[in-house]
Amino acid sequence: MVSAIYPGTFDPVTNGHLDLIVRASSLFERVVVAVAFNQAKKPLFGIDERVALMEEAVGHLAGVDVIRFDSLLVTCALEQEVSVILRGLRAVSDFEYEFQLAGMNRHLAPELETLFLTPAEKYGFLSSSLIKESSALGGDVSKLVPVHVQNALVGKFRKGK
Ligand code: ADP
Repeated sequence: MVSAIYPGTFDPVTNGHLDLIVRASSLFERVVVAVAFNQAKKPLFGIDERVALMEEAVGHLAGVDVIRFDSLLVTCALEQEVSVILRGLRAVSDFEYEFQLAGMNRHLAPELETLFLTPAEKYGFLSSSLIKESSALGGDVSKLVPVHVQNALVGKFRKGK
């Protein structure tokens, strides 16, 4: 049984992330979506919120589990007994960093393979950062995130006012 881990900050989960998870769920028997604490990135949503938003977004997908992690990714991957690290590539700009990360992870755990998937074209420009920026200024992101994420964004920015 080949399983994969899909790590990220997911602050918050977007339809681009979900596009990748759906693709992965048709390729792997189990997909572990691993939400990183990642305090260094100063996320808008706390870890509990990001996990809850992700759980609601993937609840209908069989074989997809959501976990949180604060350790080295490869340690978490080995603990979860997966053999593939999944990452998304949107544009050439993603490549350099993702290439370095894949190299480092291979150095740390050669038994793990990194696999890259690309999203549907319509999500090729989409990032959590742009969603937050647009949403903070009242932009309509309803076609880019699930409705419960949109509501959570509205709640966050309303509170901030
Ligand atoms: P990280 O902080 O680890 O980059 P992100 O939540 O920003 O976490 O992204 C997690 C993964 O999903 C990364 O591999 C990123 O390239 C990928 N990703 C982000 N947005 C998209 C998208 N719109 N389409 C496909 N992959 C994406």
